[in-house]
Amino acid sequence: MPKTFSNKKIFVNEVNYLGLLVTGGSGLLGHALQKIKPNALYISSKDYDLTKEKEVKAMFEEHKPTHVLHLAARVGGIKDNMKHPAEFIHQNILINTQVVHYAYKYNVEKLIGILSNCAYPDVAKKYPLKEEQLYDGPPQSTNFAYAYSKRVLGVQIDSYRKQYGCNFFSVIPCNLYGPYDNFNETHSHFVASLLKKIHEAKKNKKNTLPLLGSGKPLRQYLYSEDLAQILLLLLDKYDSEGPINIAPKDENPAIKDIARIALKSTKSENIKITFDTSFPDGQYRKDLCIGKQLKIIGDFEFTSLSEGLKKTYEWYIKNADTQSKLEEIWA
Ligand code: NAP
Repeated sequence: MPKTFSNKKIFVNEVNYLGLLVTGGSGLLGHALQKIKPNALYISSKDYDLTKEKEVKAMFEEHKPTHVLHLAARVGGIKDNMKHPAEFIHQNILINTQVVHYAYKYNVEKLIGILSNCAYPDVAKKYPLKEEQLYDGPPQSTNFAYAYSKRVLGVQIDSYRKQYGCNFFSVIPCNLYGPYDNFNETHSHFVASLLKKIHEAKKNKKNTLPLLGSGKPLRQYLYSEDLAQILLLLLDKYDSEGPINIAPKDENPAIKDIARIALKSTKSENIKITFDTSFPDGQYRKDLCIGKQLKIIGDFEFTSLSEGLKKTYEWYIKNADTQSKLEEIWA
């Protein structure tokens, strides 16, 4: 049973709570962590609104975590980012500034914050992108505000480490997908939107699947449970002086290839993909160099894209096919 604290629903097994607090515990990555490590404190915005300093302070005061995985963020797809840049920068700067500051004030032993590959320059001199290139040029215009909030989180974490000696560092994952992704039309990322469109095309017996953009951009995708496992490994065993890129090895497919793999994984090969080239593509490529990742955690067996897409689609079909369940999941 979830613990009830100050009339707030908290997803925690109280007996096994070992001092790990996860912000953003109700999101895509948070759910993946819950599956692997149920004995931690998973926080959603319904528990504490982290844009409010009073609530951030109360969260640390009430739970006194020793370890923090800071995942909470205003996250969204390209349409949402283009429509609400002010909300993205306002909310994320507030959340990050306060969570990192109070983690320091409350003597948290270790904190890992999550940046994003979107934070890298739109166009770089060299690919794959290395951690030291993070601040080398302006990010992509379609998610400029979100990208800057992530860059600032990186600076903040490094500054607290440098000035106060806090054992805080950040990871920079590539794009994520998996069960509990946001399949809502306006907020979803590419993979969630793709799987939803496949499902709807199948349901309505349509044999075309319209995608926004040219399908040419290259994208690395990471299954959420793989990142969850890597975060726990880092939390448990390793430290870092600065950010660490996290991405699967040797993978950087084009969007149209991801769509083809998704059609195969969902047994929908009869559906033909069409591209609406009037819609912007976003960044052409943002593949990450994983030299540092390999050095720190060594080899890791990643879930293949076809297997991950299959699992995510199965989850979607099982959990999100009725309106009531949709509302419950994305309320
Ligand atoms: P998500 O599914 O959108 O979940 C966001 C989480 O943040 C939810 O738990 C949400 O709580 C919480 N949150 C948002 N605003 C909050 C607030 N004001 N107060 C407290 N909590 C708040 O995100 P995700 O995809 O799991 O992403 C996790 C982290 O990875 C984020 O930092 C994101 O920037 C980063 N990342 C994601 C991707 C990706 O492709 N998804 C790629 C690279 C990096 P509610 O459920 O209550 O709203």
